This record gives sequence, structure tokens and C-alpha cells, in this order.
Amino acid sequence: MSSALTRDALEAFWMPFTANRQFKDQPRLLARAEGMHYWTPDGRKVLDGCAGLWCVNAGHGRKEITAAVAEQMATLDYAPTFQMGHPAGFELANRLIKLTPGDLNHVFFTNSGSESVDTALKIAIAYHRVKGEASRQRLIGREKGYHGVGFGGISVGGLSNNRKYFGAMLPGVDHLRHTLDIEHNAFTRGVPEWGAHLADDLERLVALHDASTIAAVIVEPMAGSAGVILPPKGYLQKLRAICDKHGILLIFDEVITGFGRLGTAFGAQYFDVMPDIITTAKGLTNGAIPMGAVFVRKQIYDAFMKGPDGIEFFHGYTYSAHPAACAAGLATQEIYEREGLLTRGADLAKAWEDAVHSLRSAPNVIDIRNLGLVAGIELQPRAGAVGARGYEALVKCFEKGILIRTTGDTIALSPPLIISTAQIDELITRLGEVLKTIA
Ligand code: PMP
Repeated sequence: MSSALTRDALEAFWMPFTANRQFKDQPRLLARAEGMHYWTPDGRKVLDGCAGLWCVNAGHGRKEITAAVAEQMATLDYAPTFQMGHPAGFELANRLIKLTPGDLNHVFFTNSGSESVDTALKIAIAYHRVKGEASRQRLIGREKGYHGVGFGGISVGGLSNNRKYFGAMLPGVDHLRHTLDIEHNAFTRGVPEWGAHLADDLERLVALHDASTIAAVIVEPMAGSAGVILPPKGYLQKLRAICDKHGILLIFDEVITGFGRLGTAFGAQYFDVMPDIITTAKGLTNGAIPMGAVFVRKQIYDAFMKGPDGIEFFHGYTYSAHPAACAAGLATQEIYEREGLLTRGADLAKAWEDAVHSLRSAPNVIDIRNLGLVAGIELQPRAGAVGARGYEALVKCFEKGILIRTTGDTIALSPPLIISTAQIDELITRLGEVLKTIA
């Protein structure tokens, strides 16, 4: 099938986050998927070490999801949700709030993580405004944070390549320092001890700008896309305390950590820290249909409901709560519950941790980080060629039948939550073999 792709077809698809001109001649193609595996068009089987792109938490080809979507499409293919609705949207919202901690009981639907982030940032600013604190407009993100690709998301995000080509960012945004520190924390198992004091950056920004100008802080409880960066012990608690002290909203971007990745429904529960807003996408529908959701606490929802205007929040998407996505979401949540997948990461965490840390002696490995069913394996960059070693690992792993993800020279692993211990061994053994071949 790959040989059937014409030059025109190769040129036609401008691939996202891809070095198109280096890659297009021989694109890696995935043609089929089931359970823990993909198959290439020529029939090669590839063990999925990243749940697609951190999203296929219940494994591939779940027939219940396919059936639910097909039935929904045959019954109601599309319905607007502006000033009207359809039952599945309410049903899904009601099901999801059973999973969220505390009073995060109201759901705004989007179609992606990026849209969830922009929605959350807008809710935060508008919330203060409806409460009569219109001066609270500043947003605070974090270095190396990834919050999708909307202008709001790249503004609060802290990955320079995602920002530097795109002109002016949102005004009034500051960044906390990131928490990656290999000097102090290399090869820590789970969350590192060192670094909680980095949360004090927030006090410094409050002192600089005054709390009355700050709307919200947004962080990934565990940063995934930057290469698996863990919060030091006590760090998120500290951020929460400083936000409370100054009336600042705390947003957890849980597009990756939501839906079982850390062995709890959300990262908020794993870390036992209660945010005011949670953004999600990915695992919400097992990656089968695009969908995102933003969860807000009661006080935020109530403020809009009791606010000054008739329509509370001028925001929404044509496809907010799309029927097909709602059907996929409901079927996915059913699977998670029936198979206990939202806590399976906790059951497997020790075996996973031992397996990934067995790579410590592999060539060029300078750090290994793990949490739940996630791992980051950082390789020493080649002199003058940052990212080259990581990319070589990605290519060779794919040839060897395992799908990994890399950010620069860091390998990220986040397999479907259905992975068996034998498959964990297979994934790590094959990765170790590949690492031995990389000079
Ligand atoms: N936030 C986080 C934390 C993410 O990891 C991602 C995607 N990796 C996004 C936002 C953006 O999601 P999407 O690609 O669905 O827009």
C-alpha cells in the first residue's frame, strides 16, 4: 500500500509536527490496529508503546466503541448544542463528573486538548470578570509546559519551538520555572524529592504584578510532551496554597494524565491536589473520535449562572458534544469501568517502574523518570546535534516493531492501560536492544 502513494499524495498531506521534507519519501504508515498492536501496510506488527499519542488507553479496535458510534450516527448524526441539545451530551457529562474529584461537577465540551486549554483560559478570565474583578487578566504557565497549539495554549506553554515562529503571544503571560533537574533528581523512581521550592516562583510573580491582576495558573500535573517532567514532592500542594492565598485559579491540564494514565481517574487524585479547572481530551474517547472536555468547580459555574448577563459565556464549538463523540465517550467510559482500567496503572506501576529502570545501564541513558504507566528515558544529546539520537531511536524502534515517542533526545513511553506484564517486558527488552545499537 505504501508504494501506491503517489508523489502528489505525499505532497498533498502537510503533516503536523513533522519534518515533512526529510520524511515524506518513505512515510511510516499504520494501516490497522487491534489491542496492543498496530500493523503496517506490509503486515509488520508494531507493539504500541505510547497508546497512539497518549490517547488509546483501552487499547485499539474496541468493538463496543465502534458499535456505539455507528448506532449514534445512524440515529442522530449531528445536532447543534447552542440553545438546544441531545441526550448523549447530558448523559456523558453526568457520567464524567462521577470520576472527577470534589465539586468539579460541570463540563464544557470541546474537540481537542488545544480547544480545552483555550476554553479553560477564557473561563478563568471571564470568571473573575463576572465576579467584578475584571483586572484579573494575567495568566501564568510554566517553562516546558505543553498546552496545545492554539494561541492561548502556546502563550502559556513554554516550549520555544512552538512559540518562536508565531509572532506576538497573548499579553500578560508569565512562566514559572520548569521542574526538570537532572543534577539533583536523576534516576529518581516516581516523584523526586528535590524542587518543591520552585513553586515559590508564583509568590515572586504575585509580588511583581499584584494578585489583583492574576487570573489563573495553568500546569500539567505531570508534563508529558516536554519529555515526562514530574512535579517534585509537595510542589503542586504549594502551588495550590499560593493560589488559595491570592484568589488565583489553578488549572490542571490533564489532557495526558486524565483517564487513568497515573492509576487514578485524574492526576488531581493521584497528587491529592484539587484544581479549580481540569482540561482533558485524548483518553476521554479512547482516541477514537476527537473530543475534549473542561471540568469546572461549582463556584465557577455558579458565578456564571448568577452573573450579570443573560448568556453567561460567549464561547462554544459547532461540534461541542458531537453525538458521535459522545457515543464514543460513553462507550469508552463503560469499558474503563468494566475492566478497571482507570486504576490498572496503579496495579502495574511497580512492574513498570522496575522494567523501565532496568534500562539505566543502556548506552547514553542519562536519566529515567516514571510515574503510573508513563516513563521518560533521556539520552545524552550528540554534540552539535540535539535530538538526533532521539530520532534515531524512534526510527529504529519502529523498524524493530515498537512504537515510541520522542521529544528531542527523550523517549516517552505511555502504553495502553491494557498492557500485560509480558508485553511490558517485551517493550523494554526491545527498546534496550535498540539503544545498544545507537552510537
Ligand atoms: N495539553 C496537553 C497537556 C497535551 O499533552 C496536549 C496534546 N499532547 C494538548 C494539550 C493538546 O491536545 P490536542 O493535540 O488534542 O489539541
